[in-house]
Amino acid sequence: MAYSGRARESYQNELANLRDQGLFKEERYIHAPQGAEIEVEFPTGNPPRKVINMCANNYLGLSSHPEVVAAAHAGLDHRGYGMSSVRFICGTQDIHRELENKLTEFLGTEDTLLFPSCMDANAGVFEAVLSEQDVMIADRLVHASIVDGMRLCKAMQDTFKHSDMGHLEEKLVEHQDKRFRMVITDGVFSMDGDIARLDAIVALAEKHDAMVFVDDSHASGFIGKTGRGTHEHCGVVGRMDVITTTLGKALGGASGGCVSGRRELVEMCRQRARPYLFSNTVAPVIVSGALKVLDLISATTERRDKLETNTVYWRKLLTDAGFDIKPGESPIVPVMLYNAKLAQDVARDLFAEGIYVVGFFFPVVAKGQARIRTQLSAAHEKHHLDAAIAAFVKVGKKYGILGLGKNQIIEKYGL
Ligand SMILES: *Cc1c(COP(=O)(O)O)cnc(C)c1O
Repeated sequence: MAYSGRARESYQNELANLRDQGLFKEERYIHAPQGAEIEVEFPTGNPPRKVINMCANNYLGLSSHPEVVAAAHAGLDHRGYGMSSVRFICGTQDIHRELENKLTEFLGTEDTLLFPSCMDANAGVFEAVLSEQDVMIADRLVHASIVDGMRLCKAMQDTFKHSDMGHLEEKLVEHQDKRFRMVITDGVFSMDGDIARLDAIVALAEKHDAMVFVDDSHASGFIGKTGRGTHEHCGVVGRMDVITTTLGKALGGASGGCVSGRRELVEMCRQRARPYLFSNTVAPVIVSGALKVLDLISATTERRDKLETNTVYWRKLLTDAGFDIKPGESPIVPVMLYNAKLAQDVARDLFAEGIYVVGFFFPVVAKGQARIRTQLSAAHEKHHLDAAIAAFVKVGKKYGILGLGKNQIIEKYGL
């Protein structure tokens, strides 16, 4: 027996430690399609309960949109279920290239390459275009998949303090001896919902001869006047060198990602990026759904406008009720609780009140920065948000946190 008692015991101890520290993650089973209202089995074994969903990345409400579902059905009928091959052998259909061209047009870039996921896009892109002679300079709060992608690349790694343009400029000056410099950032940061200062980053990159990379997973489809992303919001469309993004959030929410940007950089990924070369890409059914998503959001800004209205309304409701929220414009609205146990208790009580949110705490966010991250969707109607704030106020009163600022919450509950 190769899986010895010693191995089993060691893993059991490690898992028990996670439970003791309150870091053990439990899955919750949803018995319905993704939407503003879902049926959730929680705790596991209980009959599913109908709750208002405030923690999905279903920003545009397209995850179960009837036209997207119909397009996916048609794709299944016309192009089959599976490809049984990676792209460059016999895993590319006409619709894969059609989707890449549509993404290129939507993002305002030169070319696009699909990946199985944005995690894979980030895992492949740096190694494909940078070498030992180059340097990657990343914002300190970039997504975990970027951190992993950078690890797989031989270029030198450096960081700048979160959104600190002075520090970024110091780093760009420091690394002038390198062949290429690439500045790397998220477009919208997923935990705080703040938006990268892409206009300033692009200006610095142009001044100091650097490429700019942005992961726009929490922005594509809804940030910017026509939803093209952070580069549109910051007025730098056409000046981005690499954009990676996901189809797994606003753009239908199924799966898939891409590298979009300068023609040669995308072509280097097609030649060299390992997740592209050695893993199947998105299935035809998903490609067909994503094509419909791009048609829908290119035809009208109605959904991103409704999301914006919902976001402004929800931020005002929370602020007026006396919650301590991270200010900003994105539909990621963190309700700050600082104490990890408090965040979990509040999330549990909200679930009992019919509102589905999740508490985030270390190591997902820094110690002492525990929070409930609420996320808006164009699928939310005003009555959903009104019901949600009533529940938040009820639970907020129970814990006596309404009207309290950071220091007062910490004084009351500790860190
Ligand atoms: C969600 C997310 C990803 C991962 O996207 P997948 O397509 O699900 O792999 C990558 N980067 C950022 C910034 C994300 O928020």
